[in-house]
Amino acid sequence: MREQKSVKWKAEAMPCGNGRAPYGRLRPDGAGTGDAVWRTEARGAKKQRRGSMAKLYFRHGAMGSSKTANALMAAYNYYERGKQALLVKPKIDTRDVGVMRSRMGLEEKCIYVEELLAMSDEEICRYDCVIVDEAQFCRKQEIEFFLHIVDELEIPVICYGLRTDFRMELFEGSMWLLAWADVIEELKTVCWCGQGASCNTRFTADGRIVRDGEQIVVGGNDSYTALCRKHYKEGNLGPRRRTGHCG
Ligand SMILES: [Zn+2]
Repeated sequence: MREQKSVKWKAEAMPCGNGRAPYGRLRPDGAGTGDAVWRTEARGAKKQRRGSMAKLYFRHGAMGSSKTANALMAAYNYYERGKQALLVKPKIDTRDVGVMRSRMGLEEKCIYVEELLAMSDEEICRYDCVIVDEAQFCRKQEIEFFLHIVDELEIPVICYGLRTDFRMELFEGSMWLLAWADVIEELKTVCWCGQGASCNTRFTADGRIVRDGEQIVVGGNDSYTALCRKHYKEGNLGPRRRTGHCG
C-alpha cells in the first residue's frame, strides 16, 4: 500500500520534497509521522522534517487550464496525508471573498496575500506548503516574500496563474515568477482547433476580439477564452463563435 501511495504522490504532488515521497520527511528513527508530533517540535526542527530544499513553483496556464482546480487538488493531497497547505490569493478579485473557487465547483477557504505578508514566520511555519492562485496579480514584493518562505522557512510555495494577459504581455506577478521560480511548469489547454492554447483572448459579446485596454477588468462584460497563437493573431474564435476581427 505504501508503495502505491508513494507513486500517486509523485504523480500529483511533486512539489513537496523534490519528487520524493512524503515519507522522505520522516525522522531518522521512523517515528513521529503525525502532524501533531512535528508541530510540537521547535522551529529549529524544521530542517529535519523537510529533508530537502523547498522550491518556488510557477504553474502557468491559459484561461480554462483548470489552475484553481489544480491548486485545490494540490492542497487536498497535503490534507490527505495529514499535512496542511495554506491557500492564498491576491485581493484583486473581490467576487469570491475568502474562498478559492474553481469552475468545476470545488472550493475551499483561503486568505489574501496581504494577510500572508502580515503573518509571522512562526505562524507560516505551521503549514507544510503555501499554494497561491491567480499569482499573476501578485506584486514584486509579494513574490519576494514567497522567496523568503521558500529559502528561509523552507516551505514550498506553489503559484498558479496566467503567464500573459489578453495583449500577450506579462503580468507583474508572472514576470517575477518566471524570473525566480525554481520550477516552471505549464498546465495545458487546447484551442478550438486542437492545438495547444497559450494566448488568453478577450472578446466582446458580439464576437469581437479586444486587443487594447486595461490589463485587469474585474467584473467586466467581456469574455475570455484561450486560443493557439495562430488563431489569436488571426482573431479567429472558431466555428462556434462569430469570428472577431482585429481593430
Ligand atoms: Zn487554434
